Amino acid sequence: MDYWGAVEVYKEMVLLYVEEGRRLVNSQCANLEPWQIIAATILATLGAVWVKGLIFQPESLMSRIKKRFFRLVRKIPFVGNTIQTQLNKALDDMSESLCSLKDGMTYTKSLPKQGLTHEQVLQRIREYQSLNEVDWENGKVSGAVYWGDDTLTKLLVKVYGDFAWSNPLHPDIFPGVRKMEAEVVRMTCDLFHGGPDSCGTVTSGGTESILMACKAYRDMAYERGVKHPEILAPVSVHAAFDKAAHYFGMKLVHIPLNNTTMQVDVKAMKRAISKNTAMLVCSAPQFPHGVMDPIQEVGELAERYNLPLHVDACLGGFLIPFMDKVNFPLAPFDFRVKGVTSISADTHKYGYAPKGSSVVLYSNKKYRHYQYFVAPDWQGGIYASPSVAGSRPGGIIAACWATMMHMGLNGYVETTKKVIQTARNIQEEMTKIDGIFVFGKPEVSVVAIGSDVFDIFRLSNALTSKGWNLNTLQFPSSIHICVTVLHTQPGVADKFVSDVQEQVAFILKNPNEKTTGMGAIYGMAQSIPDRSLVTEISHGFLDCLYSTELPKSAQSNGKAMTNGKAQTNGKAH
Ligand SMILES: *Cc1c(COP(=O)(O)O)cnc(C)c1O
Repeated sequence: MDYWGAVEVYKEMVLLYVEEGRRLVNSQCANLEPWQIIAATILATLGAVWVKGLIFQPESLMSRIKKRFFRLVRKIPFVGNTIQTQLNKALDDMSESLCSLKDGMTYTKSLPKQGLTHEQVLQRIREYQSLNEVDWENGKVSGAVYWGDDTLTKLLVKVYGDFAWSNPLHPDIFPGVRKMEAEVVRMTCDLFHGGPDSCGTVTSGGTESILMACKAYRDMAYERGVKHPEILAPVSVHAAFDKAAHYFGMKLVHIPLNNTTMQVDVKAMKRAISKNTAMLVCSAPQFPHGVMDPIQEVGELAERYNLPLHVDACLGGFLIPFMDKVNFPLAPFDFRVKGVTSISADTHKYGYAPKGSSVVLYSNKKYRHYQYFVAPDWQGGIYASPSVAGSRPGGIIAACWATMMHMGLNGYVETTKKVIQTARNIQEEMTKIDGIFVFGKPEVSVVAIGSDVFDIFRLSNALTSKGWNLNTLQFPSSIHICVTVLHTQPGVADKFVSDVQEQVAFILKNPNEKTTGMGAIYGMAQSIPDRSLVTEISHGFLDCLYSTELPKSAQSNGKAMTNGKAQTNGKAH
């Protein structure tokens, strides 16, 4: 009785308000002419649409306000000039350290008038090889080269030579390469327990594999009527997803991590799901800390909300399928997990194939169709291509196939065992060192370390001076080693551990000393509030890579020949 009584009272109150509102509006409009009411309505509607467009854009309102603010700051005369001077200095320093040549070396700026002989070319090649300063063959570098075994290299050079001119764009002319590509995809599907409907394509690398999956899911979302498709991905996910969002007009929504495990916070991901969500992402493992995301839990989310889930196994793709065979069991991560619809795995990382190949897989052919591109009306003929590139290097696909065939299950199991064993040993030793800690529970080949006591970039500087080349990470400051087969050579891991022990002990004697050199630059880059400055410096870095000018110091010292004739001759050396 009470309940229905209350409902009645509410009903009457609501009616009263509606009536009151009606009278108010009518009395306000009493003196207006009909055209005025119509005009006001149109203006108000347009205004509302404009405000909505202003607030809801792929880039958040806050981030746009910040950008606008910093742009204004740089317009203030004195401040702007000071920033520009500092920026120019940073850029000069960079080109000085990055693009320096050996004494007497010059750039070739136009074609040699007379082509060089074989011998001359090989002679010149040696000059370029002499520029190498980092000792990657002996296992001093994190990631980068995953093996580079000599006998494998010989095989690959032969296979590449045999297929150097082939192009899978013309399967009628090069049927062998078509068969190889199909087999690379099928063998990889098999590793990830794909069913009979699983499929995929070979791409030029992890980034292209990721771009393709995002493009496919964007088009699926468009078909559903979503206008602003969103990628929901952990903060730790590879920057290739930022790139995909940037290229394909999507919005990347970064989901925070659990601060102890460094795994994505599944509850936060659930809260972020909206009608705009086009796809969910997990990493196996993520690049910064080498931690596996909780794929099974995210898979349940994907199932419940009927969303596609991409697992980025670019890094671990050719390690994790073999780990349970060598007694390093992992939670399920592949197509056996319900909800996983696609996987990217890099053959050119732990697949040990030469750079330029990766695989993107789908649990079902219906997804792959959204990846394809077809121009049915092109004057050059009906044009159908599976991925970004048109013509593709058949030689690289053949070399990738040859690597997988040569490695075989036993080969991958054996290398995986060595790599994971070494990574676990390093991890265990790192946790024993006072003053540093290991992030989360790394289960695969990456071990990331940080410190609560001193600036970890000081350790990175110290290790660089010992010949090590590690990855520097930000937000939070940390460094990592990505263990490859090269680190499993005798003595390498032990030397790494003892160098870290020694350098940490040294730093702890003076924990508050200032960081210098590259470490200071990494630290500073994180603290710049105006991120557009970091972008600008990065543009300078990329420009620098294409520089064919000698750095200022070399020019003024007169060390190098800058005479154009000597450079274009091509036989100057
Ligand atoms: C390396 C990597 C990628 C991107 O691969 P590229 O081959 O460099 O384009 C993507 N995701 C993860 C986790 C990676 O480690």
